Amino acid sequence: MLSGDEFDVEARLVINAAGAWGDRVCELDEPGAPEKLHLTKGSHIMVPRGRAKTENAMPVVSPSDDRMMFLIPRGHFSLIGTTDIYYHEDLDRPFATKDEVEYILEAANCALPRAHLDKGDIISTYSGLRPLVMQEGGEDVAASAVSREHRIYEGHSGLLTIAGGKLTTSRSMAEEMVDMAARKLLKEHGVRAVTGCRTKNNPILGTPAPDTVARVRALSTKLSFDDDILKGLFKQGTDALQVLAMIDKDASLAGRLSPEVPYIKAQVRFAAESEMAYTVDDFLVRRTEIYYTAADQGLSVAPIVADLMAQVRGWDDKEKARQLDAYRETVALSRRYLE
Ligand SMILES: Cc1cc2nc3c(=O)[nH]c(=O)nc-3n(C[C@H](O)[C@H](O)[C@H](O)COP(=O)(O)OP(=O)(O)OC[C@H]3O[C@@H](n4cnc5c(N)ncnc54)[C@H](O)[C@@H]3O)c2cc1C
Repeated sequence: MLSGDEFDVEARLVINAAGAWGDRVCELDEPGAPEKLHLTKGSHIMVPRGRAKTENAMPVVSPSDDRMMFLIPRGHFSLIGTTDIYYHEDLDRPFATKDEVEYILEAANCALPRAHLDKGDIISTYSGLRPLVMQEGGEDVAASAVSREHRIYEGHSGLLTIAGGKLTTSRSMAEEMVDMAARKLLKEHGVRAVTGCRTKNNPILGTPAPDTVARVRALSTKLSFDDDILKGLFKQGTDALQVLAMIDKDASLAGRLSPEVPYIKAQVRFAAESEMAYTVDDFLVRRTEIYYTAADQGLSVAPIVADLMAQVRGWDDKEKARQLDAYRETVALSRRYLE
């Protein structure tokens, strides 16, 4: 997608774990294949924590339809949502609509009568699509009532598709899928692919080793980092030590992106070199929370991020400008509810 190049990849077995795009991959494999998924959109809003007037996580019930949502404190902000509505539009660009934002605000203001939240309080919004297994009754079933179970399908070509599920079941879904693929490889190709589950007891990447916290704290004190930077580094687990090691080689990387944004330049460099951040969007939306939590959604630091990433990615001025335009578009999408 980055370059637009096309090439062939050969494999004995292909697993389609494309989430909301699962049906599209099945269609490529088998034109006209019956759809397996219902997509429902969920949108959230983010407001400053002080404006929500609560320090606690709490349920928020919609007075329009009695659906339960949640308010969750997250750093200096409160996240409120989510909606749950059937979706048939562009899979790549879902956004929170005016109706959704009003629905969330109405529910939040019922739960927090002193807050008087309105659109002007919203820092950011975001939307995602739930890939849910299609079930009997179609869209007559309320979106929130569609089962979150998962299923594995085998296409005529042998393509294995895993659909549905949740983040909380992803570990067991992966195990079931890989075990099934291993059985199929053995039966059909005589390939012994996996001998038992090898990942079950692996620590998650970046999980702090026992002495990491002390080492990160000591190095941060030496570099006189503010508390908010230190907290952010802790979230990177053992990777924080690699971020700090970059500063040994280039002291300018210790600088903050801005007084308001709690990240240092080394974290941009690390994301580009070691976390597969290929676009400014990758860094501001997916490797950090800047897009969600900065008052201007990171627009003011985006040029600094583009300059730092350009050093790793070899971008020229034209590419940097394209990256910044793409980021401005992403931010504009999250503010479409204002139109
Ligand atoms: C608003 C919302 C709230 C949710 N809340 C919860 C919750 O509270 N608890 C919970 O457990 N779950 C929750 N979920 C569900 C959970 O987020 C999803 O079930 C989960 O993220 C789906 O993971 P996945 O790996 O199947 O799909 P994805 O995470 O979408 O991964 C699919 C990947 O496939 C890639 N892809 C697409 N097409 C292709 C292609 N042609 N070739 C190669 N790659 C491709 C995509 O880029 C993507 O990276 C929520 C979802 C939403 C939207």
